[in-house]
Amino acid sequence: DDRIISANLMMEEQAVEFSLRPRYLGEYIGQNQVKENLKIYIEAAKMRSEALDHVLLYGPPGLGKTTLANIIANELGVSLRTTSGPAIERPGDLAALLTNLQEGDVLFIDEIHRLHRTVEEVLYPAMEDFALDIMIGKGPSARSMRLDLPPFTLIGATTRAGMLSAPLRDRFGVVSRLELYSIDELSYIVSRNADLLGIEILGDAADEVALRSRGTPRIANRLLKRVRDFAQVRGDGIITPEIASEALKLLQVDPLGLDSIDHKMLRSMITGFRGGPVGLDTIAATIGEESQTIEDVYEPYLLQIGFMQRTPRGRIVTPAAYQHLGLSLPPEQT
Ligand code: ADP
Repeated sequence: DDRIISANLMMEEQAVEFSLRPRYLGEYIGQNQVKENLKIYIEAAKMRSEALDHVLLYGPPGLGKTTLANIIANELGVSLRTTSGPAIERPGDLAALLTNLQEGDVLFIDEIHRLHRTVEEVLYPAMEDFALDIMIGKGPSARSMRLDLPPFTLIGATTRAGMLSAPLRDRFGVVSRLELYSIDELSYIVSRNADLLGIEILGDAADEVALRSRGTPRIANRLLKRVRDFAQVRGDGIITPEIASEALKLLQVDPLGLDSIDHKMLRSMITGFRGGPVGLDTIAATIGEESQTIEDVYEPYLLQIGFMQRTPRGRIVTPAAYQHLGLSLPPEQT
């Protein structure tokens, strides 16, 4: 997935992302409800000298789940261990991670919905009782032994809470949903990160970048870097609104951040299904994408900007989208 507006983290971005990550709640822009709640829970846990309750963060990729996990550990003043669902192959791998935690530490599991079943079962007693059940021996003489773990906080991240099994989901005391960011918030993030990277960007130019970032800080950071390259080669290094919109045009992202896949999806819903309602799986088959990718990655933004609606009978394209694409509405809708 190498689209410029992909929300997935690309290999070469890791170092820059690391340097741009806010380190404390006060530097974390937006997500006010989530921040307010976490502030209280963190404060309370610190007052009681207890481990913070387990936290589940969900929402589309690139919205700041990993960043928030790091911030929670910083605010608590504890260490953070990071892993991901698919990286933990056997129950023993998870047991090793758990037994290495110090009291109060945070274990962050990204893509937690992709844990293997057998691994997930190790987590249940670990989360609930801070205990590890291990089997000793094999066959009829096998017996299980319970090991105590230090109290710790598990932070899980996933794109959709619904993808977690019920027993796992139920073991999180705090469940927080991250929302797409507003243009103002993104513009602020772009300006702040430009500062950190030593880039000069005018306010209106930051808005241009923000408008095309699909509500997603990771995309905003990526667009900022491309625009900077353009400003250095074509201008004098300062990012003006003109430089920004020229650069963004070259990236084949339209003024609202839609790319060819969004266009293809909306157009095929319009031409093939008179704008819907049409089922997710049908859309997916028509444009050759996975249903899950559409639901997690493309659709949230199209819903947010009001180009698509979900109805019980399927997705529909709204008049705003017709207008954006320069298409006229079918007669019965005008
Ligand atoms: P996720 O884990 O949800 O995929 P990340 O936490 O890796 O997303 O966030 C991607 C990048 O976006 C971070 O490196 C950071 O620069 C930026 N970012 C995310 N959320 C915020 C925020 N609330 N304020 C400022 N920057 C943010």
